[in-house]
Amino acid sequence: MSARRGGRNAGVASPSPTATTGTRCWRRREATRAGRLACAAPRCPDARQGNRRKRAMRIGFVGLGNMGGPMCRNLVQGVNHEVLVHDLNPEAVRACTTLGAREAGSLDALAEGCEVIFTSLPTPRHVEAVVAEIAPRARPGTVLFDLSTNSPAVVKRLQEALAGRGIAFLDAPVTGGVARALDASIVIMVGGEEALFEQHRAILASFSGTQVHVGPVGSASVAKLVNNMLVLCNMAVAAEGMMIGRMAGIDLGKLVEIIGNGSGDSFGFRGLQARALQGQFAPSFALDLAHKDLALAVELAAEHGVPGLMAPQALALLRMARGLGLGAEDTSAMLKVYERILGQEARL
Ligand code: NAD
Repeated sequence: MSARRGGRNAGVASPSPTATTGTRCWRRREATRAGRLACAAPRCPDARQGNRRKRAMRIGFVGLGNMGGPMCRNLVQGVNHEVLVHDLNPEAVRACTTLGAREAGSLDALAEGCEVIFTSLPTPRHVEAVVAEIAPRARPGTVLFDLSTNSPAVVKRLQEALAGRGIAFLDAPVTGGVARALDASIVIMVGGEEALFEQHRAILASFSGTQVHVGPVGSASVAKLVNNMLVLCNMAVAAEGMMIGRMAGIDLGKLVEIIGNGSGDSFGFRGLQARALQGQFAPSFALDLAHKDLALAVELAAEHGVPGLMAPQALALLRMARGLGLGAEDTSAMLKVYERILGQEARL
């Protein structure tokens, strides 16, 4: 079952049309930015809601990076629950605490105090390590949503291990990239008990625009890996295409205009255009993480006997990029593999 909901206002009172823009009170957003909890406008329903703001539940959030950071900040601003945060990077923590989240201080403290816990961590190994720390401290009844892109086998293993302690685990990867994490329109896909998905949908909708229940634990990770296989193959072929244009000597700006408005367009192509072709390689989605996702997708194809024709080629390109030391750069740095071989740059 899937749902599109007004993600920005989940878990708060419906604002009046006069006091709001769209579905959310802009004064409350400004107040929150200023470190207050509520809008001060006397007739605003958000103000009333804020004044009797309930601390109904404690939600934990671990991993506040490129994706977890904006998702957590939207959660903090979109629900009437207390949010405890934890990350190894103090700056990432501060970006959330200035909006009203509370620093947990440790994973132990977060696990002990929270009924719902979100993780958004780089790799399955990171998720396993964090869950191993959380599990002994979390109370039975705790619900854990893993927003990371994870292996279907690993999430099933985690779910089974946690079930013995009375802790529910759901895989809940997201797609749409940083821009859509920032504006809370990201798509979230969930694998696990459907009743738990429904029960927590308002919370999920506070930082996402579309929520899809896929099936049992692991099914959402399968969907996410297929999705990422598509975008990464599209980006790889876009990089190759741009290099053909460059070497053939045509105007790259015109090529981009044609593809952007034509049938060759894709999310992967647009990512390449927005970053690598502009010479921007700061990671929005790190190449190392893309490599992890595509390796998991190729592994999944092999497990199910699906011939690997396309994805292994793109995976080899990412391996070459990592070999060149580009793993910490943006995924679109895969273009540099072609550039280095050919001794020419493709830039707009
Ligand atoms: P990131 O590297 O920017 O953020 C990861 C965060 O986890 C960092 O802030 C890091 O300090 C923190 N962290 C690592 N180990 C920790 C630990 N033990 N305890 C606490 N914090 C810890 O990565 P990201 O781009 O935000 O990606 C997070 C997940 O989301 C990955 O699984 C990725 O594949 C997936 N994803 C990323 C994108 C994207 O566009 N960046 C899109 C969809 C899904």
